[in-house]
Amino acid sequence: MSKRLTGILLILVLLVCSAQTVLAYGYNWWFNEVHGDLYLAQARSPFRNSGGTDFYGNVTSNNNQPRTTGTTVHNGTDLGNGGQIYRNVYSVFDGGVVQAIVHSGGNTYVTVSYSNGAPLVKYQHITPSQGLAVGHAVGSTSVIGTLRDYTWGNHLHFAAQNSSDRVLKLFPHYRHVHEWHYGTSMDYICKDLFDGNRLYIAARYLNGGVSSGSTSLEVYYRINYGPWQGPKHMSKIQPTEHYNWTIDLKVMSGAPSGAIVDFYIAAIADITASYKWGLWPQHYSQPPRTPAEFQADGKIPKYHTRTIQ
Ligand SMILES: [Zn+2]
Repeated sequence: MSKRLTGILLILVLLVCSAQTVLAYGYNWWFNEVHGDLYLAQARSPFRNSGGTDFYGNVTSNNNQPRTTGTTVHNGTDLGNGGQIYRNVYSVFDGGVVQAIVHSGGNTYVTVSYSNGAPLVKYQHITPSQGLAVGHAVGSTSVIGTLRDYTWGNHLHFAAQNSSDRVLKLFPHYRHVHEWHYGTSMDYICKDLFDGNRLYIAARYLNGGVSSGSTSLEVYYRINYGPWQGPKHMSKIQPTEHYNWTIDLKVMSGAPSGAIVDFYIAAIADITASYKWGLWPQHYSQPPRTPAEFQADGKIPKYHTRTIQ
């Protein structure tokens, strides 16, 4: 076996062993989602204070949340910079510049790729640093641009993307960062924790400066590969660190101990926009189907499996 092939196999084995991933399908594309207690890498904040330590600005939107109106979800997370003080934007990992785009409108941005398995990260509404060009190596202490004065207020639109320009989750990279709500503000519905049969999960209320609408979480499930049932509604709880919804799978389903329950969750925003769905464990940049539409199409969203205790 060649050294190269051995190396590739080793990397594959390490990837399989190091992350609990689920493959999810959309109608057109696949992606990986990491869940559970693992995280891919600890990212730095794109803002630093004058002493060089990370500064965590307010999250003023949530990743992939529906907008109140319009036909697209908000494909990224908006980060405030605490006013005018910290205007410099840094690379959050060591990487290389793959795009440095200046438009006259708000779409000015820099995109950086990373060798550590992180997706591409796009830094939008910034002016790229003088001389910054595609192919340049940037360290995590490199200033890649400065916040622009922007119609919607100075902020960094911060988005993780795969190579085909689809938006992925930033959450795994920030799941231990208290200042950003342990990463849960980086997504719309994410993070799962089981305590026996009780499931906890985080979903935002869509009040990240965009909408004051409420959200409900519906669980669809099947017992021992039987017919799909639901929805059952999760309960909103007083947020405990980063969880704000819960349901007991045994009580919900009536399944006996030892039964296998497959389930997925739809977070539904009470708004009139075209896109108001978030699905867990899978994720679409623009959730294309309601659970009812999935079932009418004879398709099943990616689901999570749990043995009832
Ligand atoms: Zn934004």
